[in-house]
Amino acid sequence: MPRLPERFYSRVKPTPFEAPHHLISFNPDVARLLGIDPDRVSPAEWIDLISGRRLPAECEPLAMLYAGHQFGHVVPQLGDGRATLLGEIRNQQGEKYDIQLKGSGLTPYSCGGDGRAVLRSTIREYLCSEAMHGLGIPTTRALAIVGSDAEVYREQIETGAILARIASSHLRFGSFEVFYHRDQHDAVQQLADFVIAEHYPDLATHDKPYVALLEEVVRRTARLIARWQAVGFAHGVLNTDNMSILGLTLDYGPFGVMEQYQPGYICNHSDFHGRYAFDQQPGIGLWNLNRLAQALIPLMSVEQAKVTLEQYEPLFVDHYFELMHAKLGLKNQDDMSRELISDLLSAMQANQVDYTRLFRALCDFVPPPQARNEAIRNLFVEREAFDIWAQQYRRQLEREQNHVTSRREAMRQVNPKYVLRNYMAQIAIDKAQQNDFSEIDRLLDILRDPFAEHPDMDHYAGEPPGWANQIEVSCSS
Ligand code: AMP
Ligand code: MG
Repeated sequence: MPRLPERFYSRVKPTPFEAPHHLISFNPDVARLLGIDPDRVSPAEWIDLISGRRLPAECEPLAMLYAGHQFGHVVPQLGDGRATLLGEIRNQQGEKYDIQLKGSGLTPYSCGGDGRAVLRSTIREYLCSEAMHGLGIPTTRALAIVGSDAEVYREQIETGAILARIASSHLRFGSFEVFYHRDQHDAVQQLADFVIAEHYPDLATHDKPYVALLEEVVRRTARLIARWQAVGFAHGVLNTDNMSILGLTLDYGPFGVMEQYQPGYICNHSDFHGRYAFDQQPGIGLWNLNRLAQALIPLMSVEQAKVTLEQYEPLFVDHYFELMHAKLGLKNQDDMSRELISDLLSAMQANQVDYTRLFRALCDFVPPPQARNEAIRNLFVEREAFDIWAQQYRRQLEREQNHVTSRREAMRQVNPKYVLRNYMAQIAIDKAQQNDFSEIDRLLDILRDPFAEHPDMDHYAGEPPGWANQIEVSCSS
């Protein structure tokens, strides 16, 4: 970022809380990714850095400017209202990462907000971003949470915390939109040149580098959302200011991982019309890419933008079906295999079947009549609905001469045993609010390796407790 001029950001300093700070959780994997030996930095030093109390001399923190379309409406100026970018760090492999603090105090873009984040939302982002990484889904990563007893006012009084997160870039679709809406087309070009040079250097020699840039973002976004759909993840606030220019999952708020399969699942209780419902995400991805293309129009013709955007749908569909076939252990795709997938989803919807548990259970499917697959059957209200589908699955497996053992192994690599369900995060939050941070680390252990068995944590792979579906998450964070 410092290579961009100041029209793209404002210099700010993080504001430490008035109350003492403490380290709530620390993720050594991400420290190592940054090229830092976690044992050589003490908790006190991490607290000094993340609270903003003591920054390295070379650190020139800033808040980035952006705009966005929020729930379909243009907001000409947003920006990091509660985040500070500390700077960039390069690891031994030459990979660069930006370190950003979220909840670090007021910035010129705070717009009446308090610049803070509450402990609750910080724990959710920390756990979910690492869970997504564990699932192989592109995402920002989480380095640590520093908490404080300082009070932060939301619907209730809560305590504040700061999340340190990293990404190769936190640039968003909205980073381009802000300059398009101001008619500052030279800045749109300057930012596009910066993104190409820093993140897509292969595109620099392309004869139409800006079209190639849009094409790459289209491709990454299509693949990202296909992965969300395959794992049952709903983002909750897919505004264009939450869309990463690198195709990362960005800005975790009222997200949800689907439990009972319902295509219209709305995870965000502030999303009254279901604009960001689970099954709307693929279409919203394209809508958002249209907003990005619009912002890039000074750099290409309308025709070029249209042709590029047309690539989204086939890319999404192909990748989604590729992932769903892998989830069923199928090697070949044909009309019948696609029908098998949609019939399964229909039966799951009609029978309120848990999405994650069903696919994990299907790893152990043995074609009837050798087995009755009781554990899988029992996940359906109407057991016969499963039996009918199981015959269809058996025939497909026979057609492709698919073997039980190799299929089981392959399926266990793509169907997680553990996902971050809202109730799991809530248990960690409730304990943390009583100053017990142990559940955060326990959850991190299973979520970073969600395909493994972790027998001592089996309860998190079972049926969620009765209170789980009463949890409501909203934009309040
Ligand atoms: P989000 O819903 O977290 O993606 O935030 C949308 C916009 O509101 C971004 O520009 C944020 O920086 C800003 N924002 C959210 N919460 C706060 C807060 N507590 N104080 C200041 N700005 C905020
Ligand atoms: Mg955001």
